[in-house]
Amino acid sequence: MAVKESKQRLQCIMGRCFSQLTILCFTYYLSIVAVGCNRQEEKDVKLLTTTGENYLRIRPGVPFKIALFADLHFGENAWTNWGPQQDLNSIKVMSTVLDDETPDFVIYLGDVITANNIPIANASLYWDQATSPTRDRGIPWASVFGNHDDAPFIWPLEWFSAPGIPQLICPATSSPYSGEEECSFRGTQRIELMRNEIERNTLSYSQRGPKDLWPSVSNYVLQLSSSDKPQLPVAFLYFLDSGGGSYPEVISSSQAEWFKYTSQEVNPDSRVPEIIFWHIPSKAYKEVAPRFMIFKPCVGSINKERVSAQEAEMGIMNILSKRPSVKAVFVGHDHGLDWCCPYSKLWLCFARHTGYGGYGNWPRGARILEINEQPFSIKSWIKMEDGHVHSEVILST
Ligand SMILES: [Zn+2]
Repeated sequence: MAVKESKQRLQCIMGRCFSQLTILCFTYYLSIVAVGCNRQEEKDVKLLTTTGENYLRIRPGVPFKIALFADLHFGENAWTNWGPQQDLNSIKVMSTVLDDETPDFVIYLGDVITANNIPIANASLYWDQATSPTRDRGIPWASVFGNHDDAPFIWPLEWFSAPGIPQLICPATSSPYSGEEECSFRGTQRIELMRNEIERNTLSYSQRGPKDLWPSVSNYVLQLSSSDKPQLPVAFLYFLDSGGGSYPEVISSSQAEWFKYTSQEVNPDSRVPEIIFWHIPSKAYKEVAPRFMIFKPCVGSINKERVSAQEAEMGIMNILSKRPSVKAVFVGHDHGLDWCCPYSKLWLCFARHTGYGGYGNWPRGARILEINEQPFSIKSWIKMEDGHVHSEVILST
């Protein structure tokens, strides 16, 4: 498929000048707007303004389809034969889903890599492999971090065998990343992973998020626009970094405040539906989790483990449940869960374990999300690697 570059890049202002930012953003001819970012304006702006086309705008008469790829865990056991084979299997799952469903957009829902398991300094090499099926098809994407994405490297015990000293494995000299950083096992920080994704991929809509929220990085919002009026939002997609790895598994009160402030700025009357994405389920998921079988109103196919929630609840769920425009939250993390259950007036959903890396042998698949503009609806289902579709649910009308 020909790569149809369709993005607007904005010169965004750091900090909390969201009013100015909103005006600036809506002045541009675009369909997805990055808010609260520090992205630099890039070359493809000219292409967009001259063609007036935007790939990510809802196409007339066709719903906007998103594929969620969760828990890919690339680079796991990279020093064995088993590990690289799992990554190839994961590429097959993603390729099948992308070819069958032909989504307009992909969301990488965290645990893209198993960083504490990657024996090279720059884990972006594995991140890059994980995004390759989407990039190769010219499909734009966004990503959030999971708890495994920037954990410090752990030496596997089996490396300390006969010779006694484990061998350093460095990026190949042909790699685009070689020479940038010294070859060591210090791991790759969230901010480096995100910088590499953004700078090396014109199809990436990911953002580094406001600096005052660092080291929680993937905090940003994207606007999905109407097919006929690019300035008219149809939905806002919020991405939050639920931590893990180098810092606690929480959505902090600062992140909750950021959401509150940003959503009031971009969607003051709560008129436009909002959808939320992060990796580790909040404690609210425990409250709605099915006991054994999945019965209505919950919808799903596997309920094979307990919810392993964030360490603390610091206000985000209270804000989300009081905001009528918030329709659903999507998380990954628990590979043996794929249900959606109602919570207050919104839905709490798990994605589906997509990668062959990570624990669990449940069949792999991807949650699909479909947003229809007229009449407005959000629908979701799960697409399996073997083509089987199940667990369809209407999340908003
Ligand atoms: Zn995982």
